[in-house]
Amino acid sequence: MSSYYQAIEPAKLEWKDGTPVSKIFGDVYFSSTQSVTEGIKEGIQECRHVFLEKNNLEQRWQQLAKINTASGFTIIETGFGTGLNFLCAAQLWQKTRPNNSSQWLEFVSTEKHPLTHSDLGKSLQQFPELNGPAELLIKQYPPLTPGFHLIKLPSLKIKLLLLFGDIKDTLPQLTAKADAWFLDGFSPAKNQSMWSTDLFKQISRLSKPGTSFSTFTAAGVVKKGMRWAGFEVIKSDGFGRKRDMLCGTLNTTVESKHGQQTVEKKNPDQLNAADTPWFITPDNSATKNRTATIIGGGLAGTTTAYSLAQRGWQVTILERHAELAEEASGNPAGVLYTKINGERNPQTEFYTSSYLYALSFIQQMPRHLPSSRQVVWDNCGVLQLSSQEKINLAKTTKAKSDSANRFPNELWPESVVQAVSHEQAEKLCGFGLNKSTLQNFLFFPNAGWVCPPLLCRTLVKLSDNINIISNQEVASIEYRPVESGLAQPASHWLLKDSNKKTICSSDIVILANSLGGNQFNQTNYLPLHSVRGQVSSVPENENSIALKTVLCHEGYTLPAINHRHCIGATFQPRDKQPEVRMEDNLSNFEKLKHAAPDLYQSLGGDKLDKKNFQGRTAFRCQSPDYLPVVGPVPDKDFFMAMYKGLNQGQTKTIYPRGRYHSGLYVNLAHGSRGLTSTPLAAEVIASYANNETQALPKHILDALNPARFLIRGLKKGR
Ligand code: SAM
Repeated sequence: MSSYYQAIEPAKLEWKDGTPVSKIFGDVYFSSTQSVTEGIKEGIQECRHVFLEKNNLEQRWQQLAKINTASGFTIIETGFGTGLNFLCAAQLWQKTRPNNSSQWLEFVSTEKHPLTHSDLGKSLQQFPELNGPAELLIKQYPPLTPGFHLIKLPSLKIKLLLLFGDIKDTLPQLTAKADAWFLDGFSPAKNQSMWSTDLFKQISRLSKPGTSFSTFTAAGVVKKGMRWAGFEVIKSDGFGRKRDMLCGTLNTTVESKHGQQTVEKKNPDQLNAADTPWFITPDNSATKNRTATIIGGGLAGTTTAYSLAQRGWQVTILERHAELAEEASGNPAGVLYTKINGERNPQTEFYTSSYLYALSFIQQMPRHLPSSRQVVWDNCGVLQLSSQEKINLAKTTKAKSDSANRFPNELWPESVVQAVSHEQAEKLCGFGLNKSTLQNFLFFPNAGWVCPPLLCRTLVKLSDNINIISNQEVASIEYRPVESGLAQPASHWLLKDSNKKTICSSDIVILANSLGGNQFNQTNYLPLHSVRGQVSSVPENENSIALKTVLCHEGYTLPAINHRHCIGATFQPRDKQPEVRMEDNLSNFEKLKHAAPDLYQSLGGDKLDKKNFQGRTAFRCQSPDYLPVVGPVPDKDFFMAMYKGLNQGQTKTIYPRGRYHSGLYVNLAHGSRGLTSTPLAAEVIASYANNETQALPKHILDALNPARFLIRGLKKGR
């Protein structure tokens, strides 16, 4: 893990006859584009020959359409480079993919030295035949920050997951099963360290019976490694000047020996050395009809419904209020941004990944609520204003630590965040800022505000397969084993009201009901805390409309929306009072005074009539470690019985793998950051439910897993 989160060193390119060459590796990204046969450039021909044809993709995808399976297809590539292989695969997928809306192509690619945005554009310019998917890729290409980056291209039914960092660090963190491998990544002669035993171990772990591979090289080390990983390896005719290449399939039945190594038969239980048994989560094999019930119609519930509906699931949302988003997701507006500090830990890593994903997610949403003039979001930029003290903290961390903790610009490209001067900050927001207390100013150019209730309604409106049952409280959930022999298999989960009457049934259930998430027998151990928050708003005026960006100070102040400025929010753990309090409105307003006195004055300052304030109180749901609680629900009795030796220092390897309630998930405890965290958390839940590649590294999935609380308790002897 130590090197997992290092600053990214972008690719250094030189151009030979229009072809990019890596200065770091001294090798070409693809064959020269000078030669054109039948109107097709050599780079594309090579990709088609080596990767598409030798993995038999066209036939396999046509077959996929015929068998009408719900699952899609997963390609894992070593070395994303210019994305040429990805785009060729995307083009073929577009031509041959099944019409079934639930089947997506997952393309996972690792990259140690990603191309800069402009080099990517320049490299792909020479392939006009790939323009369509290339434009989508260039538009959504992520900033060069380390870690996993999820890019969804719904119009193509493609999910691209880019793992930025050294493959030796990123691949062990991947939860996936490949259908095909594209082994690229420069020749072993030029890039010996990549083609290591560890890589072949990971290929073995991430493959299943029938997984295929192909690679441009015929090097002995690759042939040996792939055989060692259990693949049948065939030498085939190479492309162009290359005589040979390799391809093959994972042996399904044979347990064989190669040299000194015993190759074990592949099975889905193969573990990473670092896997902790209790965090090994199950495949969701119980799903028959692909029906889901979600309890709760706030941000967590509706984003999850949207993610599942995109995959062809039939979703029912049960909401206890008359409308969606009436509790903590009901505030008129919230800020979509992330806090940056010098620490590297699961919290900052999760919130960084979820922030970057939330930005691309929101940009795929319509600006206005469908068939309405109401504005859903605005990426007007966010200015984070901080005091000297906070930045000192970051500097201290930097001084003490390795490169994994550098702050901010070595990990954070300017496209994500810019350190700006006091004058620049004033210009950006349009108001004077307090020079005596504020010393540091960070500008997030793509961040902004979102109206959560409108986003929730938009998500439902965009999907045909989401049904809402409102004014419906759920009292209990019950699992029943499915009777065999039924023509239409029944669903496992029954959702009941307080009279024990069944409201509905479904294959899976997701609890997204905030503080109510631990009201059920299956989840009653979850430590969910309530934190009161009151937001205030004051009327705009002709001066205040000059506010151009969101200001995040001790609280936050938004540009006017529907003629009012939202100012938030109080943070009051243990305070249960639902009524709006004038003193809280005044305290929110007072925080603005400290940060932006001119704006405060222009809004009326100390003389503002109290009648002008409006307020709204809500209760956020927070976990003790400030991370959301996202994942399958552990079987508490099993955990308590099987892992009770944990407080006696017994090593983890003697324990059996965890047991989880089949098809039951939680998506809870997003605190005050739901706008940022829920879109990615929803993808995590949908990927668990659909047995898909996970968009987060395994150690972050573990940090979100609800079982963490049971394990922590057991370790302390509780
Ligand atoms: N598939 C690419 C395409 O379609 O353009 C070409 C890949 S290029 C031949 C090889 C890529 O592997 C380079 O972008 C290089 O930075 C990357 N690479 C090399 N060593 C790596 C490592 N240890 N971890 C991750 N990526 C690596």
